[in-house]
Amino acid sequence: KPVVAIVGRPNVGKSTIFNRVVGERIAIVEDVPGVTRDRIYSKAEWLNKEFNLIDTGGIEIGDEPLLTQMREQAQIAIDEADVIVFMVNGREGVTGADEEVANLLFRTKKPVIIGVNKIDNPDMMDKIYEFYSLGIGEPIAISGSHGLGLGDLLDEVVNQFPEEEEDEYEEDTIRVSVIGRPNVGKSSLVNAVLGEERVIVSNIAGTTRDAVDTPFEKDDQKYVLIDTAGMRKRGKVYESTEKYSVLRALRAIERSDVVLIVIDGEQGIIEQDKKIAGYAHEAGRAVIMVVNKWDAVEKDDKTMALFTENIREQFLFLSYAPILFLSAKTKQRLQHLLPLVNNVADNHNQRIPTHVLNDVIMDAVAMNPTPTDHGKRLRINYVTQVTVAPPTFVLFVNDPELLHFSYKRFLENRLREAFHFEGTPLRIIARKKN
Ligand code: GDP
Repeated sequence: KPVVAIVGRPNVGKSTIFNRVVGERIAIVEDVPGVTRDRIYSKAEWLNKEFNLIDTGGIEIGDEPLLTQMREQAQIAIDEADVIVFMVNGREGVTGADEEVANLLFRTKKPVIIGVNKIDNPDMMDKIYEFYSLGIGEPIAISGSHGLGLGDLLDEVVNQFPEEEEDEYEEDTIRVSVIGRPNVGKSSLVNAVLGEERVIVSNIAGTTRDAVDTPFEKDDQKYVLIDTAGMRKRGKVYESTEKYSVLRALRAIERSDVVLIVIDGEQGIIEQDKKIAGYAHEAGRAVIMVVNKWDAVEKDDKTMALFTENIREQFLFLSYAPILFLSAKTKQRLQHLLPLVNNVADNHNQRIPTHVLNDVIMDAVAMNPTPTDHGKRLRINYVTQVTVAPPTFVLFVNDPELLHFSYKRFLENRLREAFHFEGTPLRIIARKKN
């Protein structure tokens, strides 16, 4: 998906605009418990086109002086974004700091759109003309607080999106991304998998903007490994943006069927692990938690159970993800990885026949009656699976508001007990139909 970055000096209204654009989306995902959301990156949609939006103003870069921070933020936008929205304040006019940012943006070939904020009424329209003097793009008047002009701005943003790059892997290829913070052993794991017995590596490894893709085959199953660490390892000039590898991870996640979240067994879990895992969950991908470096962990007969418990507590929203303890170095238990990948990929694509599905849901309702609100009871008339990857179920009900989170979770648990859904998130949506 295209990436849109908002840049500009502090207090011009970047986060107001960000929240307006993504607001709806945040409301939709809010009912997912335990998902840590990084408010500066979010999915957004306009005219049926999805994109990722970054508010670079929220990226903290140490205790650097403001100007340095702004430069770095603009640099991130230049490196990472497909379209850059440069926000300025129409009430204050062009400032020195705006010119600083403009000087950096000059050098990029990427489309830049100037959003002139705080133009709250039509009388102020003439304030936008001086921004032509920045010489980098067409100023568009907006009012973040009133929500005016935002549509025009987004029309222009969407207009500038690059053509979609299709990935050319065959239909039955399982795309597996290897995600995790630096030094957890992603590269080691990729090498270990590719070096396994009977793995036939195609000699073409594709390098995308975000990752190195290696297609291979084992036991007649085709895979492609999407290695986000590979970029750095090939000595590309990516060190400066290593800090922002979250975004790179996000894009790799989007291109994959199965996400391997690699955790360092020696170091344990940190906040960044959770953030990345949250994205995989939100994106609806199949997930396997891989605890690497298990060889280096001092352990007794309880260590694995304790580590498992810790993962379950910290990643509440990923209770469906299997956990595999292994060592990329000694190859201990590595042989379980691809069979597990096959298994979760199957589950992710599982389609349940409608009559079987309805039987399970109706049995569940008989066991645990639907909730009521102000004397009105939820009535589920009919259930159907609308898509796979992830399996998505639509419940036709009398009133969607009555499907409370706890009941939804109960139904999800029943579905998981009845079918093989290990490793895949499930989506349950209520629609009104009497
Ligand atoms: P990446 O940044 O996630 O790609 O991590 P690397 O693959 O570069 O590994 C980081 C460090 O961890 C290297 O020094 C590896 O040798 C070490 N390492 C990777 N896997 C294992 C493992 O299974 N066991 C042990 N003991 N060390 C490992």
